[in-house]
Parts: sequence; structure tokens; C-alpha cells
Amino acid sequence: MLSKLVTLTKERDDLPLQVALIKALTEFINPESNDPQKDNKKSVVIYHLKDTKKQTVTALTGENQTKALELHVELKRAIVRAIQTDSKLVCKLPNQHQVKIHPLRSALGQLDSVIAIDSDDTDEHLDVSISMILQIYQNFVLLNNENECDTLTGLLNRKTFDNRINKILAQMHSNTNRKEDKTNQIYFLAIFDIDHFKRVNDQFGHLIGDEVLLMFSQLMRQSFREEDTLFRFGGEEFVGFFECSSTEDIQNIFERFRQKVANFEFPQVGKVTVSAGFTEISPFDTSSQIIDRADTALYYAKNHGRNRVESYELLIANGSLKENKKEGDIELF
Ligand code: GH3
Ligand code: MG
Ligand code: MG
Repeated sequence: MLSKLVTLTKERDDLPLQVALIKALTEFINPESNDPQKDNKKSVVIYHLKDTKKQTVTALTGENQTKALELHVELKRAIVRAIQTDSKLVCKLPNQHQVKIHPLRSALGQLDSVIAIDSDDTDEHLDVSISMILQIYQNFVLLNNENECDTLTGLLNRKTFDNRINKILAQMHSNTNRKEDKTNQIYFLAIFDIDHFKRVNDQFGHLIGDEVLLMFSQLMRQSFREEDTLFRFGGEEFVGFFECSSTEDIQNIFERFRQKVANFEFPQVGKVTVSAGFTEISPFDTSSQIIDRADTALYYAKNHGRNRVESYELLIANGSLKENKKEGDIELF
């Protein structure tokens, strides 16, 4: 439950907007019916393709429930095709129902969802109106998106980070209180800081520096999963929010990323390295405590040769860092 909620919050902050869209469209296409139980009510569902390889589909209805579904094979195929071809299509089901499928972009501009309208009749005027409503909705989402993303890298921006982390913490907290969390997932926050980036700017100029930042963000996208939420925190500093089953696994994932960056040949510039610090997130943390711990681990990495990944908890456990409980300070060794 917790993992589902957290994934939901971090991936699809446009969720309330999507629920509002479903409700608006449901009312629009069922003007004669005020009875939600009425059998012939035309349904509106947003299907989200979670990953293109395994083709896991989740569904969102006006009741705000998201769940993996056993979809009719034809419907699933149509959803995947509508997304892949970015085109509207009609899926005819064996029960004579027609499902009209419209591709739908997320707040981050990704095309990974469709809105499906299940009805047993055809009304072309209604179709045109629905297309117009969806166009207005997409324009609104796009504008919203421009506020949330960093213009250079397209990753989420700093302002968005504060909102997201606070929402995630609140969600984790309320679920822990209700003892609903039965998953073994652990949540991590990592800070990545490019090593000696000032030298890149000094030697090659700001424009080339920007290109390195852009390529670095692309390496991040390639290395991490779609569900991992990535931010440009400022300058040459990036932050990610990750979900994983163990510290060892996440350490390996970060280590592979560090090596990938170190081996990458940046055009003109050549080799660039990155240091990272990460920490486990507890529902009782504040966002600044989380950042402070990850930053302390990053600081340790910078002071011990750079081009390395450090875990705050491991540094404490192996005695490389000492927590000064009284003053809340950290000593470096
Ligand atoms: P360290 O290994 O300790 O992280 O060294 P550093 O040089 O990477 O770190 P420092 O904080 O001293 O310098 C960061 C530099 O990043 C300073 C600034 O010139 C550069 N920078 C910050 N924002 C941008 C940007 O948007 N574009 C470019 N090209 N450079 C930027
Ligand atoms: Mg740096
Ligand atoms: Mg820095």
C-alpha cells in the first residue's frame, strides 16, 4: 500500500487533475444520469502503462483508485498501440462495447497513459467535444509542467522537490501510523555532485559546461528506473528519490552509475567524474534532515578522493562518521 501511494505521489503529481478530468468527462457524457449506480452509465478510465517492456497497466477511475488490472487482451493491446503511435483509436470488445482510447500526456510530458471511454453507442458530435476537452486539458498540463521542470535538463526543479518530498513524507507517516506498510521497500535520497565542475567551465566555457550538465542528466535518466524521481537541485548538483529493497542493491545501482559517468567520453571535455552521498528515508524525517545526511555523506566522498559513492548510514556504522547526539553535529574522520 505504502509503496503504491509513494509511487503515485512521486510519479504522477497530476493525479488530482486526472481525477478531475475523469469526473468532468463522466458528467459530460452522462448528462441524463445522476445515478452513479445506473447500469448503462458510460465509464471513463485513465490507463497508465507502467513500463513498456512488461506492459503493466494500472487504472484510475473517478473514485481515485489505482490498481493493476486483468484487462481484456484486446483492450490492453489497443492501449499500448494508442501510446506507441500517439493516436486516437477505437477498440471493439466481444461484449459489443466500444472503447474510445485517447492518448494522454503526463505532467512531465511523457506519453504513458490513455483515457478510455467505454460506451455502447457512437456519437460523432460527442467525440469532437471530448477531443476538444482533452486538448484544453493537455495545454493546461503542459503549462503546469513548465513551472516544475528545469529548463536546461528537463529534470524536475528545486521548487518542485520541496513539494514532492513533503508529500511523500506525509504519506509515509500516515501509512506507518495506520500500520498499513507491509512492503519491504526502503526509500533513499541521493545527492550527486559533479567533481571539479568549475574547471570544466574555466577550461571550456559555460556553454560546453551546460552541455556536460545536459549529458549528465541524460546518463542519469538512462541509468535509473522510470519510477525514480530525479531533480536538478542547483548548478551541478542533482538529487534523486529512489525505492529499493536493500541498501546493498541501491549502493550497487549508484556504483554502476558512477562508473558509467567515469567511463563516458563527454564531447570536447573528455572525462568527468561524479561523487554521491545517499541516505535512507524514514517517515519521521524532515526534508532538511534527509538532505543534511545525504550532504554529509557527499562531503565525505569529496574529502576522500571524489569519484565515489558514500552511504551516510554505512559511514556511521563503520565509524568513519560519528554522530554527535548532543549537538546534532557530525565529525569527519
Ligand atoms: P567539487 O568537486 O568540490 O564539487 O568542485 P566543483 O568545482 O564542482 O564545485 P564548486 O561548487 O566549487 O563549483 C561549481 C561550479 O558549477 C561553479 C559554477 O561555475 C558551475 N555552475 C553552476 N551552475 C552552472 C550552470 O548552470 N551552467 C554551467 N555551465 N556551470 C554552472
Ligand atoms: Mg561539484
Ligand atoms: Mg556543488
